[in-house]
Amino acid sequence: NNGIIFKAIPDGYPVIGEHIELVTREIDIENFPLADGDILVKNQYLSLDPYMRGRMRNPQIKSYVKSYEIGKALEGHVPKSYFIGLLGMPGFTAYIGLNKIGKPKEGETIFISAASGAVGQVVGQIAKIKGLRVIGSAGSDSKIKYLDELNFDGAFNYKTRNIDEELTKLCPNGIDIYFDNVGGETLDIVLSHLNDNARVVACGMISRYNDNNPHVFKNLMYIVTKRILIQGFIVLDHYQEVDSFQKEMREWLKQDKIKYKEDIVEGIQNAPEAFLNLLTGKNFGKVIVKIC
Ligand code: NDP
Repeated sequence: NNGIIFKAIPDGYPVIGEHIELVTREIDIENFPLADGDILVKNQYLSLDPYMRGRMRNPQIKSYVKSYEIGKALEGHVPKSYFIGLLGMPGFTAYIGLNKIGKPKEGETIFISAASGAVGQVVGQIAKIKGLRVIGSAGSDSKIKYLDELNFDGAFNYKTRNIDEELTKLCPNGIDIYFDNVGGETLDIVLSHLNDNARVVACGMISRYNDNNPHVFKNLMYIVTKRILIQGFIVLDHYQEVDSFQKEMREWLKQDKIKYKEDIVEGIQNAPEAFLNLLTGKNFGKVIVKIC
């Protein structure tokens, strides 16, 4: 039986073999000791998510989720694939962040970074359902093509285009909601394109997770002059609403209003590399490990 073990706390990007490692252990499934009330489950899918990088930290640093323990297996979620993607944590993150903090209104303009990812692609499609003008950025031309297929009103590759120029062109009336998955330079530039009373949904800052050099912000004063609301959230705090989310999302799925791109990796032995690919943008859609 294969498992992925957390070996040491990384300083920048985790290195396979040094910080995370695949190990094989013999487990006698037939005679596995079960106490009263225990159940034995066979994992089919393993979810890889950016927050797992945050758990690879010094345990003395407090956060909303506990750190991984050195020498123990990396934990993840394991139901059928949509329940770890569209109908699971990432889809729910999109729904909660957009509705509770973004408070979208028909006719408004939303900009989404990492827009083709597990969370971003759902944000954009819900925003379209709600009648917003939807603009996204992503890190490759094939990801941009996918955003076109999702009927985004505009999208650009932030690695080959100038973010400021693209936003000027694609959001001539400014931005009302910024769904921020990346933080750093993109957030800084977006601040100068926001309208008065705009909302910034601070979902994640993946551009900073493996980079210890601080970003020096130039546009923070706009928060005051444009009366901008910037609010973070943690999806775990909202699970009392997961049933109503799944009900609404299932309805959209039935009506063909939502698509979901998964990036399925075969075999747990490929999970460490897939995790690094997620942190460097080589994934395309929700990363799921199919445990063979
Ligand atoms: P994605 O599927 O979007 O994968 C991560 C993507 O981030 C990559 O594909 C890449 O896309 C982009 N990226 C990676 N490195 C950088 C970088 N240096 N600069 C800019 N973009 C980068 O992941 P998720 O949808 O699962 O997560 C998106 C964000 O949401 C993350 O910040 C995550 O931490 C956060 N999150 C927050 C939750 C909450 O409760 N607040 C819950 C779940 C997720 P590209 O090629 O487009 O650059």
